[in-house]
Amino acid sequence: MKKPLIVQKFGGTSVGSIERIHQVAQHIIQAKNSGNQVVVVVSAMSGETNRLLDLAKQVDSVPDARELDVLLAAGEQVSMALLAMTLNKMGYKSRSLTGAQANIVTDNQHNDATIKHIDISPITELLEQDQIVIVAGFQGITERGDITTLGRGGSDTSAVTLAGALCADECQIFTDVDGIYTCDPRVVQDAQKLDIIDFPSMEAMAKNGAKVLHLPSVQYAWKNRVPLRVLSTFDVNQGSLVKGDECVYPVSGLAIQRDMYLIKVAKSSLELIEKQCRLIGIAIWDVIEHPDWLAIVVKQDAYSKLELVLQGKVADHHSISLLTAVGANTYELLHSSSQLLASNEIVTIHQKVDEWSLTIALLPESVDYAANLLHQAYIKPSKALVCLQKHAFLN
Ligand code: ADP
Ligand code: ASP
Ligand code: MG
Repeated sequence: MKKPLIVQKFGGTSVGSIERIHQVAQHIIQAKNSGNQVVVVVSAMSGETNRLLDLAKQVDSVPDARELDVLLAAGEQVSMALLAMTLNKMGYKSRSLTGAQANIVTDNQHNDATIKHIDISPITELLEQDQIVIVAGFQGITERGDITTLGRGGSDTSAVTLAGALCADECQIFTDVDGIYTCDPRVVQDAQKLDIIDFPSMEAMAKNGAKVLHLPSVQYAWKNRVPLRVLSTFDVNQGSLVKGDECVYPVSGLAIQRDMYLIKVAKSSLELIEKQCRLIGIAIWDVIEHPDWLAIVVKQDAYSKLELVLQGKVADHHSISLLTAVGANTYELLHSSSQLLASNEIVTIHQKVDEWSLTIALLPESVDYAANLLHQAYIKPSKALVCLQKHAFLN
């Protein structure tokens, strides 16, 4: 009989030291000894991708995109080899593969590539030899043979896409929290762990900065029905399952997106700026039309690139953060949330409503306090949340 197959992904903190790599190896061995075939995806050791990025920026504020991918992909290559060595030393046959060796083929969009297809034969061959296969996350290769990376946090997407291609029984994302919470538990201490979260809510959370899952990983899992679970490397519990096509909670959670820039622009240059952004692949989150000024909002890390292209057309810019409430009824919070924030002396710069979400632009220093206030007002008292969770779990 064919053995079940699971894909386990370990993030940067989980492989952050040799001691932690040992802990990761124990999880893998446990899965293997329980009769599973195991494919593992690893991130770079914590801090490593930032270190490499910083080196590149010392050379050029806008590094060559192709070379940057060659550099950043090295981070994952270190952890995959260390983990494979650890498992071999512990008596478990293991082989590591880079994205290219695992035939993870992407488009040509350096630094933010999309996986087009995976030829699973090198992995299945190793599994047939009873090996544990370790794959470098976050990276792939173009048809032309260039190394690409999938955008920050992209190892989740490597894992989920591999799970889909291999028809895995489950994709387990091991991280430094024990599941998906109603808000980042490092910001809101009262945040509640969700045993189950539906796909539309999780997609809206990931789109708006909840980095517990990389957005394309959620979208791929939803579309391709990959059983997806988030759980802790350091704690034993069931974690959170992402499941269901309907957004069932009035307010499922809050997401925080830091490091955004509000850039004031002259009305006459807006069209040109939008065009340039499209050409160089910068996403404009929104255009804000204030009675006294006009501004675009983009991620901070896109700014150097934008400045280079616009040369002088950017009047002034400042940092903002975005706080997003996600759920089926979030549009109903439009007025009450801004009243609540105003009564606590928090300035709302802008609000934007989407399907399943309401986003509030704030000054960076007030976003954590605002998240706690909104959580307390709209999520914590929700007994319905617990009932809905039970209902979802039983189905
Ligand atoms: P990894 O390195 O394992 O990929 P990440 O740092 O990318 O881990 O993602 C895990 C982090 O996501 C947590 O440490 C937590 O601070 C943050 N996070 C943000 N929003 C949430 C949320 N709703 N639930 C759980 N964690 C969240
Ligand atoms: N190492 C990459 C990053 O730091 C990818 C990942 O961790 O998922 O973004
Ligand atoms: Mg991550």
